[in-house]
Amino acid sequence: MQVLDGKALALKKRKGLAEKTAQLLAKQGIKPCLVVVLVGENPASQVYVRNKEKAAVEAGFESRILRYPETMTETDLLALLAELNQDLEVHGILVQLPLPPQIREDFVLEAIDPSKDVDGFHPFNVGRLWTGDPLRVPSTPAGIMALLEEYGINPAGKKAVVIGRSNIVGKPMAEMLLAADATVTVAHSKTENLAQVAREADILVVAIGRGHFIGPDFVKDGAVVIDVGMNRSPEGKLIGDVDFEAVKEKVSFVTPVPGGVGPMTIAMLLEQTFQAASETHPE
Ligand code: NAP
Repeated sequence: MQVLDGKALALKKRKGLAEKTAQLLAKQGIKPCLVVVLVGENPASQVYVRNKEKAAVEAGFESRILRYPETMTETDLLALLAELNQDLEVHGILVQLPLPPQIREDFVLEAIDPSKDVDGFHPFNVGRLWTGDPLRVPSTPAGIMALLEEYGINPAGKKAVVIGRSNIVGKPMAEMLLAADATVTVAHSKTENLAQVAREADILVVAIGRGHFIGPDFVKDGAVVIDVGMNRSPEGKLIGDVDFEAVKEKVSFVTPVPGGVGPMTIAMLLEQTFQAASETHPE
């Protein structure tokens, strides 16, 4: 069994990015700028936003966090996004989810300029991904594809099972594996005989949000297992959807939690922002 070390690969990618960023600034005078909009006081969001800011600054980016009260109106948020879309110095815009109930998430995501949509959630970017011509893509599945590539795991011709069908992980993951020529099954809470379906997978991606749900009976001998889950154990420890200790003897590769998929997500977000910045041409 080999551990897919997302922490190490993310560090390597961020270091490479810092070098490319220094070159972009020196040669073209462009400094990638990521703006994160945070509405309200959600404690988990505060932590995510701080981590993104730290990573962006370390890569040599300009990082702006715009904080607004829980009572912000949808109209004000849409007006802010219109301004950021026009601002030539802003390359990536990310609205931290969840939003308070008075603000419609779909309206907000659709108001971001697709080229600045570094989360890849705008329907334009979803369509580009599914038509095989991706522009900006969701960072978590992109990070998983980068991990597979790093360890020489080629999905072509393999049977892949993705458990979870969210717009941010499961669905784009399925499409990226399909684009890499895997034969893909997407499973979810209504799937019958889930363990049997999962056991068919050469590559099993689990994104359901239930601590240690996946044990050895869900895993084929020699499978590659990717654990996206981030859950709290009753003792308050961060745990994945996969019971790592219980499956590790059965699998060929597996991601740990923490240190697997999580760190790759931020690295890929920075890569998308760099991409957006390097495509701009100052007037
Ligand atoms: P989500 O929107 O809640 O979606 C969960 C999916 O899992 C749904 O499609 C649901 O099926 C399915 N599901 C739930 N219980 C199931 C069960 N018992 N059997 C089979 N399928 C089941 O979650 P998400 O946003 O995709 O996130 C999933 C997990 O990944 C969470 O732990 C989250 O914290 C983590 N996450 C990690 C990262 C990272 O960077 N590491 C990024 C994003 C998310 P239905 O559609 O039928 O309801």
